[in-house]
Amino acid sequence: MQASDFQKLMFPNYAPAPFIPVRGAGVQVWDDAGRDYWDLGGGIAVLSIGHCHPSAVNALQNQAQKLWHVSNLFTNEPALQLAEQLLNATFAERAFFCNSGAEANEAALKLARRHAVNHSGGQKFKIISTKNAFHGRTLFTVTAGGQPKYSDGFGPLPAGVQHIDFNDVAALEAAVDEDVCAIILEPIQGESGVLPATHEFLQAARAAADRVGALLIFDEVQTGCGRTGKLFAYQHFGVEPDILTTAKGLGGGFPIGVTLTRAKIAENFTPGTHGTTYGGNPLACAVGSAVLTEIDRAETYANIAARSQQLRARLQQFAEKYGVFSEVRGMGLLIGAVLTEPYRDQASQFVAAAAQAGVLILQAGTNVLRFAPSLLIQENELNAALDRLETIFQA
Ligand SMILES: *Cc1c(COP(=O)(O)O)cnc(C)c1O
Repeated sequence: MQASDFQKLMFPNYAPAPFIPVRGAGVQVWDDAGRDYWDLGGGIAVLSIGHCHPSAVNALQNQAQKLWHVSNLFTNEPALQLAEQLLNATFAERAFFCNSGAEANEAALKLARRHAVNHSGGQKFKIISTKNAFHGRTLFTVTAGGQPKYSDGFGPLPAGVQHIDFNDVAALEAAVDEDVCAIILEPIQGESGVLPATHEFLQAARAAADRVGALLIFDEVQTGCGRTGKLFAYQHFGVEPDILTTAKGLGGGFPIGVTLTRAKIAENFTPGTHGTTYGGNPLACAVGSAVLTEIDRAETYANIAARSQQLRARLQQFAEKYGVFSEVRGMGLLIGAVLTEPYRDQASQFVAAAAQAGVLILQAGTNVLRFAPSLLIQENELNAALDRLETIFQA
């Protein structure tokens, strides 16, 4: 099998790279021809503790010999354990497990609608979202997302979603009326360009939600699980959501997502109102628990802060030396480098050139290079990766 077999076998909704990664360890990956790569993309911000971390491998192997699946007709020990860890570390009092970010947001949006129906009747169904937001690929979540290219051609879309400009406080205040049941926001817009929210915007969203009795949903699918240097990004901003979703980094490569909220809100989901076959299965939760334990400790947060500075400083150097970036932005180890005018919208070419040079990076939209490496990446590893990356700017 080789990468070109993809076209013969798979739906053409992806355009994978011309090589096949076959093995990973920490921040390194090897392909089917034996070439090695530094992984600064982390499987799109998923590999929070790198490839095949021993703690995660152990947790998976131990659980694999005990119990794989029981369905939600039963609870299971790894799910209870992971829920307790998440609740102890956040504002939340209840957890709902699922398998992806989209499902975590789908649950959040359905919960907000049900909460409004139970407390205010059927009129209160409007959802306020932002342009360029990304919330997943189910029909409800592409509708909530603010990128028409992902929802065009799939209509009719669910009704009641309104999009305002990100970080536009006046537009937010004007849009939020008594018919609004939820405001959904990413603390940093990840997919569309690594664009952080302002404190002011998140505070205004909190106040607007409180004013009309709407629920504030933070989509931390990408920014959660240590990615920004705290366990969740809301903890930097001092603005608490009513519902928080996370996924990507939680399983460190094993599919899992979670919707977190307070007990009073969770109680709107009575038995039978919502569910998923695989959500909260023992394998995923055992891995999630091990991953979260590695992330949620002082040494990891200290490493994220130090590596973030190192990465930003070096990207800033590239900006000055080669004129490739107009801005370096983001938080923790979610960093975006905005391309300058001569290279406008060429992010995918840079990503391909970087892979050729032996570094895996990401794009965010067409004009931003995105970096989301393992939160455990070491100083010398990051330097070695950036040395390789520099060769593409020299060329
Ligand atoms: C990736 C992402 C999603 C979707 O997650 P999936 O696991 O692909 O369904 C939703 N929201 C944000 C902010 C994301 O980055």
